[in-house]
Amino acid sequence: MKLDVSEALAHPGQEYRFSGTQAIADQEITGDIVRIDDCAVEGEFMADEEGQIAVRGRLRTVAHAPCANCLQDASAEVENDFDEVFQRNGDMEDDEIFAYEGHEVLLDKLVMSYAVMALPIRFLCREDCPGFEYRDPDAIPAEPGTQYPFAGLRQLLDNNEEV
Ligand SMILES: [Zn+2]
Repeated sequence: MKLDVSEALAHPGQEYRFSGTQAIADQEITGDIVRIDDCAVEGEFMADEEGQIAVRGRLRTVAHAPCANCLQDASAEVENDFDEVFQRNGDMEDDEIFAYEGHEVLLDKLVMSYAVMALPIRFLCREDCPGFEYRDPDAIPAEPGTQYPFAGLRQLLDNNEEV
């Protein structure tokens, strides 16, 4: 989502309210794919005399990932407050700062980093999830996402040797 800051730039010190939704790409975190619903975002922004834009507000969403104990689908409410300054004509590719050009402030990077920052360390399908029955080793399913990147190569080499 983006903010049109032309009004704010013409009126430094004046606060402008905004709200909207921001889609967020799936995140891979310690081997699990975390899917994040569209974030509801609301807040205020304000320009200063130098053309920097202060943006503060709050995001809310729900994130989905496999339960840390039993690998069933689990979800967690995510919310986070943000308060950042976007520099006019700063380096947009610099991950250390927020920057904008022209009259539009893009919030994609801000919302994504604040949503990811607020993700739980472990997803649980329910607070007292018992996990697998470890007494029966057959009950433990293979870990999804386990890949053997060289397995295919090994096979290729073996086949060649036979030729
Ligand atoms: Zn579970």
